[in-house]
Amino acid sequence: MGDFMPVLLIHGGVARPSYNVPSVLFHLQKIAIEAYSMFDCGKDHVDVVEKAVLLMENDPTFNAGVGSVLNLLGELEMDAAIMDGSTGMAGAVCSASFPKNPIRLARVVMEMTPHVLISGRGADILAEKLGFERHPGPTEEILKRYGEMRSKLLSGDGCDDLLSEVRRVIKHINYFDTVGAVSSCYGKVAAATSTGGIWMKLPGRVGDTPVIGAGTYAWLRGAASGTGLGEAAMVTLAAKSVVDRINNGRSVRSAVIQTLSEIKKHTGKIYGLIAVNSSEEFFAGQTAGRLAWVAVKDGEVFQGISVSRSQCN
Ligand code: ASP
Repeated sequence: MGDFMPVLLIHGGVARPSYNVPSVLFHLQKIAIEAYSMFDCGKDHVDVVEKAVLLMENDPTFNAGVGSVLNLLGELEMDAAIMDGSTGMAGAVCSASFPKNPIRLARVVMEMTPHVLISGRGADILAEKLGFERHPGPTEEILKRYGEMRSKLLSGDGCDDLLSEVRRVIKHINYFDTVGAVSSCYGKVAAATSTGGIWMKLPGRVGDTPVIGAGTYAWLRGAASGTGLGEAAMVTLAAKSVVDRINNGRSVRSAVIQTLSEIKKHTGKIYGLIAVNSSEEFFAGQTAGRLAWVAVKDGEVFQGISVSRSQCN
């Protein structure tokens, strides 16, 4: 690999203390090693982030693909995005319910269509026409949790009551199990993110993940993927802020920390970010709670749990 040491960094969401850290790290590590091994088969930075996210979408531990959470009506509405920093091309899907692996569809949007973001019905039709594997439907565990949350909602009859209940439920959600990956290889970077969104979101709500620049961004020397309350990243363009700072000469660590403190100041919400630069430096941090991450660099595995913006390299 010459002077370049490919790096892959993945996360499985940001959460407050209830998080089962050893279990999440175990799943992340297995996935990171498998995805990273694609570099040895000649695959590139984009292939590797797509694979890492696809493997997390297939693991019900995470809120993406088969483990996706449900909206207020008990429906799946999945979002995903991928971006290649070496070309500036991006692809994303939002509010999709058909594909088991929305990240694959996002890559198709990036490489085979003239568009960047395809929503809902259009995304589902495209996935079906392309012969994508169909989502198997929510797991028993997800349905059980939905039933419990649902029974606590809708105490009143009117729309005002409903909206205030939804606001209350979402305000108290403090675990975000969205998945993301960033990689760097031969000076090229990529980012990918996938999610079921947030529990009990209003139907049609789209979060940060598929919004290029909010939850996912890669350009020139930097790539970033985020997790947490999507609305916080949408109003601060979190992933792009990190990448801009990297391209302006900041270290990855300082780019992430400065962006997180802006998010905290502007929104006060829980949000986490992972990032990498084209010199294979990487960092994970969050405004609150914990963010489990695993990185593989030049074949060596690093893992950690970022607590209160601790650094990872
Ligand atoms: N960022 C995701 C969203 O708001 C949620 C998460 O990170 O789990 O849709």
